[in-house]
Amino acid sequence: MPVNEGYQANKLFTDLFPETTGNNVNGLGEETVRQPSPFFWHPADRHEFGDLQHEVVGYHRRAEEITAHYTPDAPRGPKTIQKSETVVEKSAEEWSAAVKAFTLAHEGDLVGITPMDPLYVYEGYELNDPWIIVIGVSMDHELLNKAPATVEEPDAGVEVAKQYNRAARVSRELTNYILSQGHYAKAWAGPFASALSMMPAAIQAGLGQLGKHGSLINGTYGSSFRLSAVTTDMPLIADSPVDIGAEDFCASCQICTKACPPDAIFEEKQMVRGVEKWFVDFNKCIPYFGETLGCAICIARCPWSRPGTAPKLAAKMLARRASKEQRNDG
Ligand code: SF4
Ligand code: SF4
Repeated sequence: MPVNEGYQANKLFTDLFPETTGNNVNGLGEETVRQPSPFFWHPADRHEFGDLQHEVVGYHRRAEEITAHYTPDAPRGPKTIQKSETVVEKSAEEWSAAVKAFTLAHEGDLVGITPMDPLYVYEGYELNDPWIIVIGVSMDHELLNKAPATVEEPDAGVEVAKQYNRAARVSRELTNYILSQGHYAKAWAGPFASALSMMPAAIQAGLGQLGKHGSLINGTYGSSFRLSAVTTDMPLIADSPVDIGAEDFCASCQICTKACPPDAIFEEKQMVRGVEKWFVDFNKCIPYFGETLGCAICIARCPWSRPGTAPKLAAKMLARRASKEQRNDG
């Protein structure tokens, strides 16, 4: 029997579904490319799921060990400093190397750079900074893999909250570094959403590929990491998207689809706002996500997330593809 057979969504959450579905808001089935619409984790008055979001956040608050990390006293890094009036001039290559070295020396584990694209900005927001520096911080997989969390055993949720704070600290430290050099910078960090949609920018900046579970897969940490970002006008050099073979792997893997209790992960790619991609059914996911204080089963059970596994899987997948191409050429 599949793990997910027989799951009943909690009425506490489903009773608050608005007329539309999360899949409609996210653009499932739409053939035209467009900006994403503000949705969950945006201010509640910016989308139709505000009441449900409020309930999910309230449910989270029962787990004090988790919410202790989401208070105003949480260690989310320094306050923003004034931009220096002295502009330090360096080449784009030098600045790119400098911001990457700074990030990795200040609690960051991953960093990549991509130019701004209007498709990374949620509808109704204005964001014209030319560059995005995307930051990744790894999670403790042993703790993450305790998902799903409960009020009594909140370890996975605590780890997620801690790493959101670490990601925030890295982005704020980097922002202040750039401001101290006389260039504009602004920090962006979750879990609450804002103008910037970080995941597509992270893909473009080379931090990973989109997995079937709707999250990124990175060649070192799998899906066991969180994102933050800094936008800036500092001259920089763009990184490129990576191919670690995750697409091929997901095409024949069903670990997350079978592990997801509410059966929310589509087995096949879907057309979403004009792009064919992996997709998660929001209305199926969110009640379970709500009652398990952030769920995370899919990213925890993804084989790429097991420590030390992602580089081996990437090497295997790329070697397999190369040998297939060689056979086809011969
Ligand atoms: S569990 Fe399997 S199918 Fe799901 S994202 Fe990971 S590799 Fe892809
Ligand atoms: S977060 Fe949980 S409920 Fe949502 S898709 Fe992943 S496994 Fe399924």
